[in-house]
Amino acid sequence: MDAGLNEHYDVAVIGGGPAGAAAAIQAARGGAKVVVFEKGKHGRDKVCGDGLTPRAVAALHDLDIDLESEGVHRIDGLRMIAGKQRRQLPWPAHGRFPSHGAVWPRRRLDAHLVDAADKAGAELVYETSALPILDGDRVVGVEAGSRRIGAGLTVVAAGAQGKTARMLGAERDPDEPFGLAIRAYMETPRHLDRHLEACLTLRDRHGTPVPGYGWMFPCGDGTVNIGVGALSTMKRFSDLNLNTLLDDYRALVRDEWGLDGEYLERPRAWRLPMSSVKRHGPGWVAIGDAAGLINPMNGEGIDYGLESGMLASDLFLADPSTAPERYDVEIGERFDAFLRTGRRFSFLIGHPWILRNGLRVAVGTEAIANITLAVMGNLVDNDTPGAAGRVLRIADKALAAADPLLRKTRAAT
Ligand SMILES: Cc1cc2nc3c(=O)[nH]c(=O)nc-3n(C[C@H](O)[C@H](O)[C@H](O)COP(=O)(O)OP(=O)(O)OC[C@H]3O[C@@H](n4cnc5c(N)ncnc54)[C@H](O)[C@@H]3O)c2cc1C
Repeated sequence: MDAGLNEHYDVAVIGGGPAGAAAAIQAARGGAKVVVFEKGKHGRDKVCGDGLTPRAVAALHDLDIDLESEGVHRIDGLRMIAGKQRRQLPWPAHGRFPSHGAVWPRRRLDAHLVDAADKAGAELVYETSALPILDGDRVVGVEAGSRRIGAGLTVVAAGAQGKTARMLGAERDPDEPFGLAIRAYMETPRHLDRHLEACLTLRDRHGTPVPGYGWMFPCGDGTVNIGVGALSTMKRFSDLNLNTLLDDYRALVRDEWGLDGEYLERPRAWRLPMSSVKRHGPGWVAIGDAAGLINPMNGEGIDYGLESGMLASDLFLADPSTAPERYDVEIGERFDAFLRTGRRFSFLIGHPWILRNGLRVAVGTEAIANITLAVMGNLVDNDTPGAAGRVLRIADKALAAADPLLRKTRAAT
């Protein structure tokens, strides 16, 4: 053991969100010696919409997480609202994923996942920040309080890029879009509603259409998660006041949802990273938000965190020496093309005229609304057969051709 390191683990995880917990569960169940450092307390909250698509439910099943016995609120489909048009569509019954999603408030979901990691044999250390230890460009372990731990693999699961990312050169790509979103909880008589609701026609106080959406995600516990999110490609993005946008959205849905009271806690906003200049290096991988793995089409990141966490550990268990390189390749194969299409799409809808007119088409007919559902619900990627997959592949080609122009004429200021 290196003189400066006083303990050794197979896997050291920085961050106990869904990504870090998934990596820890998978590695510990595979027999690895695992430690997770989480700077928050056990049961810390995370600013989120709490929405789980069928793909995320499938990832939780892969981890043997049983949503039913936890009483998690089940979701049967998506309601999309664009101005006066509304479409309510069920999740498809015979796709690659289960026919239901869920809403699981993060305080409970994340606590459940770290507890599962604990049960699997991982060591969980709360209220402790960790940082990678570098030997040249190799990460040899982590430093946490007075502990200097050597690790075969250091898994960076620290969420939206911060200090750890700066140390590793794994920051967000400044030329790529990102998102900002805000959420609160409110009491509602419709807390048992079995649909995620998304309002696609938000406008800022200047009347500019906002690329993003407002959501009502019913939690099944007397409350609804209410929020709004926007992409950085919009005009005057830096002036956008998320609190105002949320208040305006609340006014819009107040009657329909019976929102008589106030926000149950102060609305909180956070970043949605959608790129990373690097997601691996000698001795380390970044997973989840730390790797910029958020879907620009719907702001979903929990599923990507779970999937990337499991993959990193599977590859480590198969062959520690090649795990970082293999991880980068396999994540690339699984997600890069789709997420790149999404980022290009976000430059497209950053143009108000395109957004206004595109939305009319997106929910205008049932057939096209079904494709929008597949995209918003993360049921489709560039390899998916059928109409939605075909549309996505065509869109990918068209967006690739238009990309330089879209970026040059980007609306954001
Ligand atoms: C308002 C909003 C709404 C959203 N809604 C949805 C949604 O409905 N569905 C969905 O799928 N996604 C949604 N997302 C995205 C989702 O929240 C993230 O993608 C998801 O939390 C990523 O998980 P993660 O484990 O990578 O990171 P995180 O959940 O951010 O976890 C990272 C953890 O690392 C800890 N940490 C950071 N630095 C250190 C350190 N140095 N040492 C120790 N610990 C550290 C943090 O305390 C944190 O607990 C939303 C995001 C926002 C902002």
